[in-house]
Amino acid sequence: MCEFDYQLNLIPLTRQELLSTVCEKVSKKRFKHILGVEQAAIELAKRYEVSIEKASIAALLHDYCKELSDEQFRQAIVDYRLDSELLDWNNNIWHGMVGRFIIEDVLDIHDVEILHAIEIHTTGSNQMNLLDKVLYVADYIEAGRSFPAVEAARLIAASNLDAAVAYETSQTLLHLIRQNVPIHPLTLQTYNHFCANMLV
Ligand code: GDP
Ligand code: FE
Ligand code: FE
Repeated sequence: MCEFDYQLNLIPLTRQELLSTVCEKVSKKRFKHILGVEQAAIELAKRYEVSIEKASIAALLHDYCKELSDEQFRQAIVDYRLDSELLDWNNNIWHGMVGRFIIEDVLDIHDVEILHAIEIHTTGSNQMNLLDKVLYVADYIEAGRSFPAVEAARLIAASNLDAAVAYETSQTLLHLIRQNVPIHPLTLQTYNHFCANMLV
């Protein structure tokens, strides 16, 4: 695991305090996943010249809300006056899109780039900046992932970040379609933007 301190005062916590805060909020298995995402995000941040500190913070927080109950998310959608269409979705979508507001409120974190990367880490969008892409891809390729497409995704991520976003999006869509689950409009938007004209 990497050892370093935050220098930029982006959040009101040291890295050690952030690690403890996240560790207390999620299961051991998920914490391991989160540390894997941080490691992958830092490597991608170095490769694609993104702020390592922002990549670390976004990664450590991206699944912070994943273990909240459906009731807690429904209440948050009401409390934060979010689009009521969010109520039609589930934890898969809520932990990022609603989680972003919970993290801002509860942890007093207001960096808009970090919050945006967390918000769309599951779906992507057609307006992803480098940090958004780094988190989206790191979540998919972290060392603990072992599904068939992951090796190809890691190879692509090492040389072309946009191609990695495209590959991940098409694989995820195929997986969701096989499961007959609803596709979020932002997932389709990501597909249309990154995949429709690329051969991956
Ligand atoms: P995780 O939180 O580390 O498991 O990873 P993600 O946040 O990327 O994804 C959470 C879950 O949401 C995964 O099972 C994805 O396959 C699923 N997912 C991604 N996009 C969509 C979508 O558009 N619709 C639905 N229903 N699920 C999605
Ligand atoms: Fe997630
Ligand atoms: Fe994740």
